[in-house]
This record gives sequence, C-alpha cells and structure tokens, in this order.
Amino acid sequence: MIDLHVHTNCSDGQFSPAETVRLAAKSGVTAMAVTDHDTASGIPEAMQTAAEYGMTFFPGIEISVQGEKELHILGYGIQPKHTALLEFCRGHAEKRRARSQRLIAYLNGLGVSLTLEEVCACNGGRSSGRPHFARALVEKGFACSVQDAFDRYLTTPEYYASVERPKPSPKKAIGIIREAGGIAVLAHPHQLKLSDAALESLLISLKDDGLSGIEAYYSLHTAEQTALYLQLAEKHGLLVTCGSDFHGPAVKPDIQLGTGLFGSLNVTDAGIVSRLAAAIHRNDLK
Ligand code: AMP
Ligand code: ZN
Ligand code: FE
Ligand code: FE
Repeated sequence: MIDLHVHTNCSDGQFSPAETVRLAAKSGVTAMAVTDHDTASGIPEAMQTAAEYGMTFFPGIEISVQGEKELHILGYGIQPKHTALLEFCRGHAEKRRARSQRLIAYLNGLGVSLTLEEVCACNGGRSSGRPHFARALVEKGFACSVQDAFDRYLTTPEYYASVERPKPSPKKAIGIIREAGGIAVLAHPHQLKLSDAALESLLISLKDDGLSGIEAYYSLHTAEQTALYLQLAEKHGLLVTCGSDFHGPAVKPDIQLGTGLFGSLNVTDAGIVSRLAAAIHRNDLK
C-alpha cells in the first residue's frame, strides 16, 4: 500500500517519526511520505527507519496557506535541511507559538479555564496544533469529543477573526517547496467545498504558481470526488497522489495508515510512486 500523507509528533500526530514509520511498515505500507504541518524536523529520523524496513520514502511537508480560502499544500522530495525552508519553518513555528498564547487568552475569555501547561501536559509536552488544544479541552471536560472541541471553539468565525495566525500565499509556499528541491501538491481538495468549476479555476491558478499535483485519493473522498479529481488531473497534466492523513488514534481515531477510513484508501498503483519520483527528479535537474 502507498500512503503519502502522514503526521508525526513533530507536528500534531501522536507517534514519533520512528514509531510512525514502524507502524506503517507493520500495516503493510511499502511506500510512504511523512508530511508534518509546517516542519520537516521529523524527516531524518523517519527516513532512517524507512530504510531499515526497506520502504520507499519521500521526505515531505504540509504547508497551510491562505488564498481565497485556507488551503493545504503538500511538498514531496524536499531537502529537510534546506536553508530557505528552515527559515520559512522557523517563522511559522513562531507564529504558531503566538497563536497558542492568543488561543489560551481567547478560551479564558469564554470562561474555559485552561493553561498552556495543561495543554502540553495532555500531549506529551507538546503544543503546536489545534488538535492538541482539542484533546486538552476534552480531557478537562469542556468538550465531549475532539470534533466537538473543534466545532465549539476552534473553527468558529470568532476564532478565525481573533485567534488564527497569518499564513503565506499559495505562491510563496509552492515557491519554497520547489526551491528546497520538492514538488507541490494540493492536499484533500474536498475540504475546500468548492463547486467543480471553482476547483478547476483554482487548480489552473495554482498550476501557474508552480503546483504539480493533486491528492486525488484521500481517506475522506467519496468515489465520485476521487473520479472528478482524477479527471481534472488528467485534463490539466497534474500528478495524482494518495494519502490517509494519519495522525494516530488519539488524534484522529478512525484513520488508519494505508487503508484510511474503514478501508477507504488502499492504493497500490505503483505508477503513483514512480511518476512522483520522476517529477521530483526533474525538479532536481532544474
Ligand atoms: P492547525 O494547523 O494547528 O491549525 O491544525 C490543523 C489540524 O486540525 C489538521 O490536522 C486538521 O485535520 C485539524 N482540523 C482542522 N479543522 C478540523 C475540524 N473541523 N475537525 C477536526 N479536525 C480539524
Ligand atoms: Zn494535523
Ligand atoms: Fe491538511
Ligand atoms: Fe494533514
């Protein structure tokens, strides 16, 4: 199985890079990418473990960007220690830290008594992502599930207006990915909730910015959505990728490595891996 969208505890996943890769190998994944939010810090450890298991491994990242909507751009084949990429990631880590402070103040203002220390304590000492806050809110009894915490506190218009951090443009993020030797792919297009025509216009504009592919196979895509994304990829000469968006059972309980949501993924087409490798290679030659 192929899984090109996986998070570790270097961002908001549950397991270390080595544990995540080991679990993937045991789950029958033979080609994978680690794609943490706004950081490539887990790549060296993941890469080494993948080599021990004889797996094909792509060093990856997932960057949140702000266009007309928030989009997630996956980068594959990046050099994790590339200076411009490291600088970019450092800036984002700082913006996340500032957001954490605003989020605590915001929650306190809503009568939710929670400290950053408590958030870190329920997450193995870490806090960088909203899923960390969601878990802490559940643990402290302010929400009945991670989804409930997102709905009540972490995705409201007030949250976006007063707490959310500034994000780069799609063009900037795609540019950084390419500069660091990688190629850029639009993650989970279904999440954008765009009409077919609006998604097509967006793809054309992102392709102008240097986008190379679309994540057509994803845990939460219906068969109809996948068919549409495959057709758009074909029409616009874009690569196709596949990913579960695994974060670990404590963060996303039903999403499994390789198989996705109750077997929704299960991609085995070796052409996906070879075309991605070839595209990264072509970018390297530029
Ligand atoms: P962050 O990058 O810290 O803003 O958090 C992004 C993470 O939150 C991603 O892993 C998303 O899957 C997760 N997320 C975003 N919106 C929701 C939602 N409505 N319900 C559950 N998880 C969400
Ligand atoms: Zn995440
Ligand atoms: Fe995402
Ligand atoms: Fe993701």
